[in-house]
Amino acid sequence: MKAKNRDQSLSDSRELDGSYDQLTVPPWGLHRCFWLKCLLGYWMDCHELPKECPSGVVNEENFKTIYSQFFPQGDSSMYAHFLFEAFDTNKNGSVSFEDFVFGLSIILRGTINDRLNWAFNLYDLNKDGCITKEEMLDIMRSIYDMMGKYTYPTMQDDAPREHVESFFQKMDRNKDGVVTIEEFIESCKKDENIMQSMQLFDNVI
Ligand code: CA
Ligand code: CA
Repeated sequence: MKAKNRDQSLSDSRELDGSYDQLTVPPWGLHRCFWLKCLLGYWMDCHELPKECPSGVVNEENFKTIYSQFFPQGDSSMYAHFLFEAFDTNKNGSVSFEDFVFGLSIILRGTINDRLNWAFNLYDLNKDGCITKEEMLDIMRSIYDMMGKYTYPTMQDDAPREHVESFFQKMDRNKDGVVTIEEFIESCKKDENIMQSMQLFDNVI
């Protein structure tokens, strides 16, 4: 009975928003390219960067503001924080235009390995080289918060935890409780859905 309800809620959420299918995989499906384009457009507008020599920087608050505009129905601040950390590669609290373009170029035009490395780095919150269930749960919760769980009344409270469990079933190949970059890349490459969602970018840009 419980399982049936869960199936029902999953299919309901898929009808509402196909991006839920992509929640357990690297975030390409969730993002497609829309936020990348929007973010870039917004940033250029806001900062009026000269095209030849862009030198503006964006801080975490800017990321949060931008995200809150695209996901007004939810609370995107945590997810924006995680993304900011992934873009802020030298950890100085700001993302320069060059950092941003470098990150984008990996996401949009990098090799499969480059893109998977980038996604792994996003999920590996403390950047110690492996993804724990706690880290993945933080990410999943932030995504659910961003999408706005109250918009989807059929969504179960434990849905983020279930996504984490299925992520680990797929990715933690030696079952030691953490996902390493090797496990992550190998598992993603064997998963048709993930590979397909990553190729979405190749067609839109
Ligand atoms: Ca970690
Ligand atoms: Ca493992």
